Parts: sequence; C-alpha cells; structure tokens
Amino acid sequence: MNLNSRLPDVGTSIFSVMSKMALEHHAINLSQGFPDFPVSEKLIDLIHVQMKAGHNQYAPMPGVPALRKVISEVVSKTYHHEINFETEVTVTAGGTEAIFASIAGLIHQDDEVILFDPSYDSYDPAIRLNGGVPIHINLSPPDFSIDWDEVQKKINSRTRMIMVNTPHNPAGSVLSYSDLKKLESLAEEHDLIVLSDEVYERIIFESKSHESVLKFPSLAKRSIAVFSFGKTFHATGWKVGYTVAPETLTREIRKAHQFITFSVNTPVQLALAEFLSDPENYLHLGKFYQQKRDFFLKQIKGTSLKPLLCYGSYFQLLSFDGASQKSDNEMAEWMTKEMKLAPIPVSAFYKDQSDHKLLRFCFAKSEETLRSAGKILRRI
Ligand code: GLN
Repeated sequence: MNLNSRLPDVGTSIFSVMSKMALEHHAINLSQGFPDFPVSEKLIDLIHVQMKAGHNQYAPMPGVPALRKVISEVVSKTYHHEINFETEVTVTAGGTEAIFASIAGLIHQDDEVILFDPSYDSYDPAIRLNGGVPIHINLSPPDFSIDWDEVQKKINSRTRMIMVNTPHNPAGSVLSYSDLKKLESLAEEHDLIVLSDEVYERIIFESKSHESVLKFPSLAKRSIAVFSFGKTFHATGWKVGYTVAPETLTREIRKAHQFITFSVNTPVQLALAEFLSDPENYLHLGKFYQQKRDFFLKQIKGTSLKPLLCYGSYFQLLSFDGASQKSDNEMAEWMTKEMKLAPIPVSAFYKDQSDHKLLRFCFAKSEETLRSAGKILRRI
C-alpha cells in the first residue's frame, strides 16, 4: 500500500523509548515521569466501593457531575475563580487528551499556534494532526524565560492560539505574575485562545506561587486550563484529567472529546469526587516533592553534573556541559546502557533538536531509588 504518513517525522515518543531501554538494560528508570510509590490506599478503597456498588457503565460524556462539582469548588478556593461545573468543566482521559481535544475542537485548517520549546512532545503533533501550523519559539537555559517582545513579533492575522506550560516540563521553571499579565494583554490585543497546561499546579516549591490563567479574570475568559489527577494523586496510569474553560470554548472542546474518548472511567471519577473534597489530600504536595527534589540534589552534590534551578514539576535538569563531549542523546543512551540509570535527553523537547547538554531526571521516586541513582551519578 502506498501510505503517505500524516506525521512522517514522528517516531515513538521519547518516554516510551527510554522506559523500554531502561527495562531492557535493567537500569533505574528516572526517564518517563511517573511515581514509583503507591497511590493512597484510601483512594483505591473508594474505587473498589464504587465498582462493587455497580458503577461500571459509561459516565456522562463531560464527566461525572459529582466530580465536576468538586472540581468547581476546588477551582474557586484555589484560584478565586467562580465556574459553572455544568458548562465549564470537562473530564478527559488525562492531560494529553485534554490538550488534543482542545486543539481538535478549536483549531481550523492553517491556524497558527504559538508554542515554546522545550515543549511536551504531544503539542506539535496534536496541532498538525488537526490542520494547524505550530510556530515554535525556543527558550534557553538556564532560566527558560519567555521574551514577550519576540512572541509579539510572531503574532499575525493567522495566529489563533498560544500554548503555555507552568510549572514547566521539562525545565522546572514557572511563569511569574508579570508573564501572565503580558500573556493577558497579548491575547486580548490579538483575540487569541490560550491553552495552559497546568498539570503540575500543586508541585511548586520555595515561595513560588502557581500563576494559573484562572487567576486573571480577563485571561480566564479566553483560556483553557488543563489539569491532571495522575500528577496530583500519583496515579499517572489512570489517565484522568480535566479542562476548565468558559462555556463557549468548552462547548467546542466537548464536541471533539465526545468522539475521541466519549467519556472517562466511571468508578475512578466517583472515587476522585470524594477524595478531592478533602484538601488534606492535595495541599501538601509541594512540600512532599520539594523534599524529594532536595534529597536528589544532595545525592549529586560534588559531581560534575550541574543542577539547574527547579521551582516546580517533578523533574530536575542536570547539565553535563564540561563533563562530556557527548550529545545529550548519546549521553542518555550511554547512561542507560552502561551506567544503568535512564534519563531523558532534553533535545527531544526541541523541534530543532537543539542540544543544550541537558538531561531530565524524574525525582518522583522513593528515597531508596533516588539513593541508588545518586550512587551511579557520583561515578560519572
Ligand atoms: N508526562 C510524562 C513525562 O513527561 C510522560 C507521559 C508519557 O509517557 N506519555 O515524562
């Protein structure tokens, strides 16, 4: 068959590649981002209860009302933004589906979408599969800050959407209040939709605060905020996330969502509704992960690897510039195969694959795993 690929340049996701390599070479896997410690027993019990009570058929397409209602209460408490759970919250199969459904529902053929590299690997293909044109803007280490004048220059009459991610994967950087104000004024001036990936909203460190688009009233009017229970409750494998967006945007997102997944796992949604109603279950996440970040940093003290500042997410970037001539891809492969420790090469997050000699390590791991990783890193 003569098959003309829609995504000829795309291979298997770097997260799958590195996790597979780690498994094959019996390496400690700090590549793909997922916790290696258990989900709360209480949450698992709540799911059992729902399954045993017979809640095993399709959920309503936009999500179980009880869950959407609690989400609206949490959004109100956290961001002081009042939303209508009937019309502004949609439960999705993880953050990745939320992003895809938002783009599929709102981007027309040849619409331009601005995104910042390093970027999560689904953004660009999601735009292209839906007929959009990704416009990449490179951010550079060490701080990966956005030059808003450069953004302004990239905006033209075809620009429809701008995508942001804070706390940032893989950089660990966070957007500031002034970044959000600049985003707000640009989006208003050019009538843009903002797609804001905030899946690490609760994993934020030091005195930083999470600047959600939902905190800025005129930005919230034109934004889709994407969240993930996988990140907040250590359950990435359940694939449950959600969008918060004004009714006009939500209506279009749901048109796509209903034909991508239709609806999401019923008993998990019902259990999450109860679990999420207790703030004790999520309020301490920042502190929890800050300890893990610090424990990991202690392990690598005195090595030739230089940590970049990490203010959020569960990823730490380490620079090996000066320690090796290898490219980041070669370094990641060598580390996995020879040293038995798997990271992610950061060039995988750049469209132009620019090599900044950086590796990403996931510290959502038990102290035992991080200690073993530290032993290996100290030999490099
Ligand atoms: N979000 C995870 C990461 O950045 C990966 C998710 C996936 O494997 N698709 O590592």
